[in-house]
Amino acid sequence: MDTTNRALSPTGDPFLLTPGPLTTSLTVKQAMLHDLGSRDKGFIALNARVRTRLVDIIHGGEAFTCVPLQGSGTFSVEAMIGTFVPRDGRLLVLVNGAYGHRIVKMCAYIGRDCVVEETPENVPCDPAAVDRRLAADAGITHVVVVHCETTSGVLNPIAELGMVVAKHGRRYLIDSMSAFGALEVDARAIAFDAVVASSNKCLEGAPGMGFCLARKSALADCAGNAPSLSLDLYDQWVAMEKTAQWRFTPPVHCILAFDQAIEEFLAEGGVAGRGGRYRANCKILVDGLRALGFEPLLPDAIQAPIIVTVKMPADPRFDFPVFYDRLSAAGYVIYPGKLTVADSFRIGCIGRLGAAEMNAALGAIREVLADMGGIDCRAA
Ligand SMILES: *Cc1c(COP(=O)(O)O)cnc(C)c1O
Repeated sequence: MDTTNRALSPTGDPFLLTPGPLTTSLTVKQAMLHDLGSRDKGFIALNARVRTRLVDIIHGGEAFTCVPLQGSGTFSVEAMIGTFVPRDGRLLVLVNGAYGHRIVKMCAYIGRDCVVEETPENVPCDPAAVDRRLAADAGITHVVVVHCETTSGVLNPIAELGMVVAKHGRRYLIDSMSAFGALEVDARAIAFDAVVASSNKCLEGAPGMGFCLARKSALADCAGNAPSLSLDLYDQWVAMEKTAQWRFTPPVHCILAFDQAIEEFLAEGGVAGRGGRYRANCKILVDGLRALGFEPLLPDAIQAPIIVTVKMPADPRFDFPVFYDRLSAAGYVIYPGKLTVADSFRIGCIGRLGAAEMNAALGAIREVLADMGGIDCRAA
């Protein structure tokens, strides 16, 4: 393909239509052009502002605190499980994709008793099944759900599930990594003890840190639970409240970028504005793919506006690695699938992308398909 037509972001990079790392704004990247000491007054104020604004996103008020943590999002998920589920607890993991399976694996590593309620990757977690499960097993102390299962892009009903968990008097934990900032997580409406997300997905900061928004009264009971020093959210919280410092070297540049990213998130109208842009991106993408003959995996009603899974065309001339390489040469990076129910690939609609980029990406897809000899995009 003629690379003079290559689309580029303002820094000359391809656009990332992936589940993370994501395309960030120029101003978010520029915010990182500083070195700050961890004891610097400006840094301490910045850190406090980021924490407060994150609590505000869930309307957490005085009841919630934000505990940030170094590392990618997975570190925060593991920290939440290890800190909140006590050594003699039992965790019910609602699984419908790879991120649910990853939590089950964490439980094996850190020695937490866990049981699984599983639905296929293209089916949301089922509140009625969770209801029956909790009624049958009084030993389950905690339930964890993945908000948007990024494996397929399916939206799980976190509010309905939360009502079932509350009815049985169990504790509720949420991995909202790929949805936080674009889809509402309202602490006034859903009774959860903790939700985790990261700096680089829908909040559009740089990757490198996660955070847990924790109910203070629940976190206060978690001393001594964590099987890992560096992933102990209770210890990180207590130390940060006492000293206003991170326990270990803070990801200063990541926090600088995150503060700017949150500023831009608020300027866009918060969850309503950010979610609105992603919903528009998702609609352009799904409509455009269907018009080309592709078959998205999910019906619109359970498709979260985060990432779209597309069934692999049955046409033997469609070679995914070639398709991927040519699209990436045109300036659009997509993502392979990781489904077990169907051969697929994925295209994200989050990050600093709007209607212009989504339409241009569809244009590039159309050209690549033509270059490949006019592919019939229908799935088997
Ligand atoms: C991305 C993601 C994670 C893990 O985040 P990393 O930053 O890749 O470690 C966890 N859960 C969900 C639902 C995700 O989408």
